Amino acid sequence: MAEQIANEIYRLDIPLPDNPLKNLNSYFIRGRERSLLIDTGFKTRGCFEAMKAQLELLDVDMKKTDIFITHMHADHVGLVPLLAADSSKVYMSSVDAAFMNSLDLPQTQDFLIASNLSEGFPKEEFMRFLSHGPARSLVTAKPMEYAYVDDGSILYYGGYAFSCILTPGHTPGHMCLYCDDLKMMFLGDHVLFGITPNIVRWPDFQNSLGRYLESLRKIGRYDIAAALPAHRGVDCTVADRIMSIIEHHKVRLQEVNGIIRDYPGLTAYEIAGRMRWDIQCDSWADFPLMQKWFAVGEALAHIDYLLDVGNILSEKLGGLKLYRPKG
Ligand SMILES: [Zn+2]
Repeated sequence: MAEQIANEIYRLDIPLPDNPLKNLNSYFIRGRERSLLIDTGFKTRGCFEAMKAQLELLDVDMKKTDIFITHMHADHVGLVPLLAADSSKVYMSSVDAAFMNSLDLPQTQDFLIASNLSEGFPKEEFMRFLSHGPARSLVTAKPMEYAYVDDGSILYYGGYAFSCILTPGHTPGHMCLYCDDLKMMFLGDHVLFGITPNIVRWPDFQNSLGRYLESLRKIGRYDIAAALPAHRGVDCTVADRIMSIIEHHKVRLQEVNGIIRDYPGLTAYEIAGRMRWDIQCDSWADFPLMQKWFAVGEALAHIDYLLDVGNILSEKLGGLKLYRPKG
């Protein structure tokens, strides 16, 4: 249920049953003229009912409320079409908004298929994944008009100023919001506690893991008294959490590097199949398609990092990309 965390600022708890994220934390800032809602939940009945009940409890008038979306994933943007009134501004970084609005274009779909097949995803599996729609559920809102915000944009609500901080990595245009008066950081999925934010490869966005680690350091420079992640709770300081996430990726990079050294000439799909995953499955073949898609994406983010620093190289053979150690 809704919980007050500062004067005029509330946390809304949207449960996500059967999802390892457990819940979505939406935040509401009450203003005299206009209020702000941060992130919304999946476009599901459960999320909608939970959101509606808490908005009613807080006596929120959506006609006088704008929405800030930290990034384009469906658990954040999903309910926007059901919540936004005609008068609501929906803020999103220009980078993520442009990406969302390009998703249904045929060239985006063609690119998605071609790049995944070249990374070793079996065609039958990948087409099944696409047609069953889990990929679509990643990003759901229809192309719509967003109020673009960029790094350094400032929003005023509830008597506070909130600065937008571009933190590319989890998505290319992920954004955090910082309130200097309260030393309060709305983290989105940039820094989560108890679960590591998922980093995958994105089109037209080089070395997502490298960019993500840079964005972690960027957030680490802020004075943060209240850390407000978009999922779960907080069990240590942001500085400590940033250090452990960086350490996690260091270990992951060593693991991927080791696989490529021991088995030169594998595809990203095969490398992902040899990585350790925290999932109850007997073998890589038994992974649900959605988990496979995330696993390959995550393997690729680490592969791209190793390519970038020059540890490994890729070669094309018969339409497949294979990875080998350099030198
Ligand atoms: Zn999320």
